[in-house]
Amino acid sequence: MLSITEIKELLATPQKIVITTHHKPDGDAMGSSLGLYAYLIQLGHHVTVITPTDYPYFLHWLPNNSDVIIYTEKTAEAAELVANAALIFCLDFNTLSRINELGELVRASGAYKLMIDHHLEPEDFDDYRHWSINACAAAQLVYEFIVNELNDGELMNKDIATCLYTGIMTDSGSFRFPSATSAVYRIAANLIDAGAEHWKIHQLVYDNATENRLRFLGHCISNKLEILREYNTAIITVTRQELNDYKIITGDTEGIVNYALSINGIRLAAFIIERTDKVKLSLRSTGDFPANEICKKYFNGGGHRNAAGGASVKDLSSTVQEFKEILKEYKTQLLQ
Ligand code: 5GP
Ligand code: MN
Repeated sequence: MLSITEIKELLATPQKIVITTHHKPDGDAMGSSLGLYAYLIQLGHHVTVITPTDYPYFLHWLPNNSDVIIYTEKTAEAAELVANAALIFCLDFNTLSRINELGELVRASGAYKLMIDHHLEPEDFDDYRHWSINACAAAQLVYEFIVNELNDGELMNKDIATCLYTGIMTDSGSFRFPSATSAVYRIAANLIDAGAEHWKIHQLVYDNATENRLRFLGHCISNKLEILREYNTAIITVTRQELNDYKIITGDTEGIVNYALSINGIRLAAFIIERTDKVKLSLRSTGDFPANEICKKYFNGGGHRNAAGGASVKDLSSTVQEFKEILKEYKTQLLQ
C-alpha cells in the first residue's frame, strides 16, 4: 500500500493519470471524477477521465465534461491511456467488474491504483484506499482527500467545488438521507464558498428533463406501478418496447424508482427494466431494510443498504416472478 507521503511525492512531478468510475455513471461518479480532474490538472498532470459507458445528459454541463473519454466509443485510445498511466484513480466503485471490460485493462496496467469509494466490501486490487461506507458520496471522500489528506485546500476552485457539490447532492438525495450529516453540510457550505452555485446545480440536474422522460414517468406511475401491500413493496416494470415507444435515452429512467418509494407505508421499491442484453433491477428501501442483500444474493449485484442494483439473465416476467418470490423471505422485515 502507498502512504499519503508517497502519493504526495508522486504528485510532485507531472504524471500520466487516468480517473475512472463505474459503468452508467451517475452524478456522484461524474462529480467526483471531474472534481478530482479539475484539481489534478492544476498540478500540471496529464489527466484523462475514462468512463466505461455513456452517462445521462443532465450531467453533460459539468465543468470539463468535453474532456471525458467514453470507453465504448474510443476503446483503443482509452486502452492505451490505461496501459501507459502511472496512476489510476478508481472513484465510486470498488470491484473491477463494475467497470466492465475496462476492469481487466486496469488490473493489467502497471499503474498505481488509488481507490476513493464508499461501497461495501472492496476488492483487493488497489495500492491506496481512501474508503468509508459512512461517506454520503465518493465526492465527499475526494473533498477530504484533497483538503485533509493532501492539505491542498487552497487549490479548491469553482470547477472542483461545482463537481463535488453535484456528487454530494445527487448521492445524498439532495441532502436528505441519513448519510447527509452535519459534516456533509459543512463541506457543502465550503463548496458554496468556493464558488459552487447550489441553486443552479439543483436546476441543471433536476429541472433539465426531456419531455419524453416526463411523459414516460407519467406512464410508469399511471400504468406500470404495482403495489403489494402485503409486503409494503412497490414495483415498476418496464419492457424494451416501452423504452422504444417513449424514445428513452440514457438518464431518462434515473430516479423513477424513488416515486414508488414515496408512497406511504412502502419500505421497498423496485424498478425492473428490460434492457437489450439483460434485465436490470434498481432497488430502494427505507430504514434498515437491506436492499443490497437481495441484489447480492439473487441478482449478482450489490450497492448500499437503501440503494442497490443487480441484473438477471432471465426474461422480464420470470425476473419479476422471482423478485416476488424473494419478498416472501423478507416479509417480516418488510412489515416491521
Ligand atoms: P441504481 O439503482 O441507481 O442503478 O444503483 C443504485 C446503487 O446500487 C449504485 O449506486 C450502486 O452502488 C449499486 N449498484 C447498482 N447496480 C449494481 C450492480 O450491478 N452491481 C453492484 N455491485 N452494485 C450495483
Ligand atoms: Mn456514490
